[in-house]
Amino acid sequence: MKIQTDLFPGAGRRTTAAGRPRHASRPLVIPVFIPHAGCPHRCIFCDQAAITGSRRRMPTKREIRERISRFFAYSKDRREEIHIAFYGGNFLGLPKADITRLLSTAEEFVTAGHADGIRFSTRPDTATEDRLDLLGAFSVSTVELGVQSMDDRVLGMSGRGHSAEDTVKAVERLKGRGYEIGLQMMIGLPGEEGSGAIETGRRIADLEPGFVRIYPTVVLSESPLARMYKQDLYRPLSLDSAVGITKNLYILFNRKDIPVIRMGLQDSTDLQDANVIAGPYHPAFGHLVLSALFLDMAAGVLKSAGISCYTLILRVNSRSVSKMRGLKNESLQILKNSFRYRQILVVPDDSLSTDELAVEFGTSSPTYRQHRISLKEAFRDVEFFAKGEAKLRAADVARDRSGNSKITARL
Ligand code: SF4
Repeated sequence: MKIQTDLFPGAGRRTTAAGRPRHASRPLVIPVFIPHAGCPHRCIFCDQAAITGSRRRMPTKREIRERISRFFAYSKDRREEIHIAFYGGNFLGLPKADITRLLSTAEEFVTAGHADGIRFSTRPDTATEDRLDLLGAFSVSTVELGVQSMDDRVLGMSGRGHSAEDTVKAVERLKGRGYEIGLQMMIGLPGEEGSGAIETGRRIADLEPGFVRIYPTVVLSESPLARMYKQDLYRPLSLDSAVGITKNLYILFNRKDIPVIRMGLQDSTDLQDANVIAGPYHPAFGHLVLSALFLDMAAGVLKSAGISCYTLILRVNSRSVSKMRGLKNESLQILKNSFRYRQILVVPDDSLSTDELAVEFGTSSPTYRQHRISLKEAFRDVEFFAKGEAKLRAADVARDRSGNSKITARL
């Protein structure tokens, strides 16, 4: 997304307001939870007490200060850009005095040079001009909208009380004021069918947000959805389907250079304490999705290359080794079984970025042969089919002048 630097002070600078170097990576976020504060009603899937692990609706100024200060006392990382975030409620739905009180408390830390910006999540229908006017005096840089779906029928069945058009208008208003925009979507909501999630993903991508978050719908014990589930009126996605749909969404956003900064609910003891009664909850949901992507990527290039050998070497950035292996080495086992390699080695190689994979073929003999094939951006060739399934087309294989071959694929 192009940020209008005249409207978003500091966006083009190399350092943040607090003098820290601006990083291409996401800022470090200190969350302050305001569970259900400002919500006009309870959306049927929601139970913020379980999601945020906090039952207190509105923290006092003192509690906010203590929470942020505690974070600084424990955090060792001083390099990153730091944002203070108000999550778990409908920020712009709060009374004006509360909005100002929360923002001015966070602003104290920006003024003191400890933080660089403020962000919050809110409903699209509350991002009105009137409410946005309140933000001008504060260092708000980012606004996250709970979009959930771009299908009005699904929004209605989920008790959201706003339309897809409200989201489009809210994004226009926020862009007009130069804010970075994050859009949150859910998959598996009541009434969502077939390729519905992919269609929502497409419409969200068309809005060109700065980043997205993807949450699979799970049934929380204290949510209205739990009643529907118990009456057999709602059937959640299986974990496999949720991973598959999220994988396709990740590819869709990645192709448009839109970062996906979160997949799945944050793991918390509250969620684990029997709050999730059904649905595709996994404490490492994002890891499962990324492992599936690396597996697809490896399978795609192996199919294209059609080279059989004894040993397969998969090179990935050291931060991506576990994603390439999959949970309990599951991905390596699948590749072994499918392609009949005797040995698969995953080798850390930090010359590659975290979303790249280099594949080398060889034998374990002293005359080890290294085939190098270049394949850039494997997922540029991904096509989406009616049911939201992604498939890799046969990729072109190019050899370099010496006849060596290397496949490099990027998520
Ligand atoms: S989804 Fe958002 S608006 Fe709906 S109840 Fe939960 S916090 Fe409130």
